[in-house]
Amino acid sequence: LSDLGEIAKMYCLSEGSKWTFSDSFELGCQVMQKKLHLQGIIISEEFPNQVEDTPEELGILQLEEQRMRVELSEAYRITREFGMDELVWNHISVLLSDGSFLITPGSRMFDDIGPGDLVKSSGNITADIIHEAVYKTRSDVKAIVHLHTPATVAVSCLEMGFVPLAQEAAPFVSRVGRHPWHGVSNDREEQQLLGESVKDDKINTLLMENHGFCTFGRTLGEAWVLAFYFDKACQTQLSCLQTGQKINYPNERVLAHAAEQSLLPEFLPGACEWDALRKMLTRSSRYRR
Ligand SMILES: [Zn+2]
Repeated sequence: LSDLGEIAKMYCLSEGSKWTFSDSFELGCQVMQKKLHLQGIIISEEFPNQVEDTPEELGILQLEEQRMRVELSEAYRITREFGMDELVWNHISVLLSDGSFLITPGSRMFDDIGPGDLVKSSGNITADIIHEAVYKTRSDVKAIVHLHTPATVAVSCLEMGFVPLAQEAAPFVSRVGRHPWHGVSNDREEQQLLGESVKDDKINTLLMENHGFCTFGRTLGEAWVLAFYFDKACQTQLSCLQTGQKINYPNERVLAHAAEQSLLPEFLPGACEWDALRKMLTRSSRYRR
């Protein structure tokens, strides 16, 4: 619901609208609560099941989708800018209030995905299984980034798994789940196992053994920035191991303190970085459609 203010502003400013900002905001709250109720995420007698959406409610939902299409296509292009993509594979998704999620069509390079190219079911069974499993299990997760960067894949192949060593690893202390490799994720049984691996809501990252990783966020910015730092923390871990020198492991108490600090609003992953990353795209203007 973090974008509701913006959506309400767009709605009351839209052509022919007679709505005030506070009326639009209230309508937005109402429609999103109704959708959460229909998905079984909140229980309330105020919202009977199967009520048709009014034109105004549909208007709000359309605006939400429009906004998220723009932001998600930017997330793909930002991933490409940092060289964290893998041809047309890997996937980033966002959940919409109606319970569906937007994702890559799976056939385009990440710098060639515009708002209108995003789809609601990718047709890529792997993408659908992984993302659906997490959204079904974790009602707090609104965005997922799944990547196979070289450092994270290498760490996913280590028996020791991920080990937090430097400051950038603070958001991941005791928050990384592990999921064994089952081959290409294409069956419903694996979906259940994936759900099991992430059901603890402290988990913000899933290390998928011999495969890659996923990060989870309450916003797209949070999930993406977590992915960036997880990749960096894995690079640090590998660089340290490669020296063959004795590692100076961080003090447990300091590590726990840093982990707590990473939850403060001003240090929350994405809070400062996401808008700056989005601006980076228009500055470089390399994307043309
Ligand atoms: Zn994968």
